[in-house]
Amino acid sequence: METGICEVCLKNDMLCEGCSKKLENGEISEKAVEISRYLYSLAEEYSYLEDIEVNEIYVGEEVIVIVVKKEDVGKVVGKGGEIVKKLAGRVERAIRVVEMAKDVKKFSQNLLPDVKVYGVNRVFSPDEDYYKIIVSSDDSRRIMLKEDEFSEVVERVTGERVKLSFR
Ligand SMILES: [Zn+2]
Repeated sequence: METGICEVCLKNDMLCEGCSKKLENGEISEKAVEISRYLYSLAEEYSYLEDIEVNEIYVGEEVIVIVVKKEDVGKVVGKGGEIVKKLAGRVERAIRVVEMAKDVKKFSQNLLPDVKVYGVNRVFSPDEDYYKIIVSSDDSRRIMLKEDEFSEVVERVTGERVKLSFR
């Protein structure tokens, strides 16, 4: 299993020097460490979790986003949603398993499966360029993430600055 922390740290309660640094730098959160370890422990019972690759675990106020490669989405959801249910019970929050993509538009759409993304416009600004993700205001309740949370997840995964824009 590949996650934000190394395999030694997945097995133990302590973090090695390298993984501690990641935590200090904000590359990974305490909650993400907890969820990674929990997933790792589940792999004993659910062997299909053994070879998954987790790209990002983002902890929002209402929802936790787990970004995995395409082939692993079904595994992290589990048969009949069994893995997601366990995770949600453990962290007492909704879980959204999202397919990894480096492309801003593709990842934004993956992150908002029930929302129509009308367009992605590159905005050139004197401070810093960013992408404007245009969605319908009718869909705003389906987003589950706050606007700043959305921006943060997309930036962490794609490395690009984005802002949601409603029309
Ligand atoms: Zn480690």
